[in-house]
Amino acid sequence: MKLTFLGAAKTVTGSCFLIETRKSRILVDCGLFQGRSTEEAMNEQPLPVKPSTIDYVLLTHAHIDHSGRIPWLYTNGFKGEVIAVKAAVDLCRLMLPDSGHIHEFEAEWKNRKRMRAGREPVKPLYTLAEAQESLKLFRSVAYDEVIQLNDDIRICYRNSGHMLGSAFIELWVRENGKETKIVFTGDIGNRDIPILKDPSLIDEADYLVIESTYGDRLHVDNSSKAEKFLEIVLETLDKGGNVIIPSFAVGRTQEIIYELNKKVSDLGEKVERLMHVPVYVDSPLAINATEVYRQNLDCYDEEARWYIENGDNPLDFPNLHFTRTADESRGLNRIKGGSIIISASGMCEAGRIKHHLKHNLWRRESTILFVGYQAEGTLGRKILNGAKKVHIFGEEISVNARIEMIDGYSGHADCEGIINWMRNIKQFPKRIFLVHGEEKALYSLAGKVKEEFGVEPVIPSREESFVITAEREVSREFGEKAKERFRYLAIVSLLEDVKEGITDIYEMLLDELREGADDARLNLLQKKLKALQRDMVNLLE
Ligand SMILES: [Zn+2]
Repeated sequence: MKLTFLGAAKTVTGSCFLIETRKSRILVDCGLFQGRSTEEAMNEQPLPVKPSTIDYVLLTHAHIDHSGRIPWLYTNGFKGEVIAVKAAVDLCRLMLPDSGHIHEFEAEWKNRKRMRAGREPVKPLYTLAEAQESLKLFRSVAYDEVIQLNDDIRICYRNSGHMLGSAFIELWVRENGKETKIVFTGDIGNRDIPILKDPSLIDEADYLVIESTYGDRLHVDNSSKAEKFLEIVLETLDKGGNVIIPSFAVGRTQEIIYELNKKVSDLGEKVERLMHVPVYVDSPLAINATEVYRQNLDCYDEEARWYIENGDNPLDFPNLHFTRTADESRGLNRIKGGSIIISASGMCEAGRIKHHLKHNLWRRESTILFVGYQAEGTLGRKILNGAKKVHIFGEEISVNARIEMIDGYSGHADCEGIINWMRNIKQFPKRIFLVHGEEKALYSLAGKVKEEFGVEPVIPSREESFVITAEREVSREFGEKAKERFRYLAIVSLLEDVKEGITDIYEMLLDELREGADDARLNLLQKKLKALQRDMVNLLE
């Protein structure tokens, strides 16, 4: 069989792997490329095989960077089955149409600009209606159930503890009378993620395709998280402000609701005040996803079940309010203080969170509390990096609020977690492929794997293929056409670095002009100029 890496290869988004056997074509995940525009440009790129010739998409979990290109695949001719754990299918029913809505909205916005420039309009990657239509291809399976796909292929989904309905996929392929087992981890959860059970262990694999998001990092100790949270909330309330929490609508929001509920039950008197603080969840997607969480209790860990058995729904407490309509959401803008508002998107790029930032960022008494990763170039990253002013809806907003970040809400295992999980594989794989990581994380994890297990993992490039057999695997060059495209992409990517660098330096110099010299800023400026110089030299080369 042949394994081709179509996404999440030397990057974290766009997860997509193609397996071709003599009889079938299977994709494991079909995710959206996200982040910088060079990544997003990849979403329109055709696959090396016709979508109509693909038999199955095996989906590890509902996150858009794993599922978000399925409607696109469908509109391009894919008519096979999409197989995922029931809770993941339930979440896709919400998340894919929501993604379609975002693509329509973005295309509209681009087209207004393009029309003014006299250019042809662009089409959205897919529409809400197309996403909804593609859902008819989905089929639910249970964890730990072995399914015979056809004469040659068996599959089994195991809990990966990363989000509701997330799974490792075990795949057995019979060829020339021999069976080969490949395991795709999708995303591996952290051991103590609220609500969810810890990741399952895998007994054996011939080949392992494993994620590396935090391959170069260790998470900070989780135990102080609750105290820090409480302290930030109470101090903000004392000052008469609001706590604004930008959060991913699915996963993180439910974890925070759960944690808040637990704090109220666990910490007793200390949180007496917290019990009276109204908590608003202001994101229609988060509200619907919370409902899916409530309907899939079989995915819960023992602690979460204990709450339910004792009559306490851990995703509900007396002061929790869900605001569904735009009117209700606008109503929140009038609240000057004393409340916690959780809203999406998590990196502040879209959604209702932007309104809450607009109304609270300029106020000294409010706090913006980040609980998730903020990617480069996002509004969230700018605020977290200490920007004094940001633009929201074309308006310049001063950043006066207290800015805080609590680490340790990560949905991914850190490098120690990944290595630990691998230690439990009794029959160790012949080959390990590292995917779903930035280069730094990939190479750092590769070093650790070699040190621990004495084998050199493969870090595949995008569109690189490997012929895999029961005995060995042969690496293959990728096609000329792909090479050309990547060279082109690399230049665009460098140009983006230069563009970002120039904007940063420009804004810093303006601050110097306005506010006078500041040593720390001058130092940073010098560093940025050096980085820009390096990028320019690379670009010219
Ligand atoms: Zn994920």
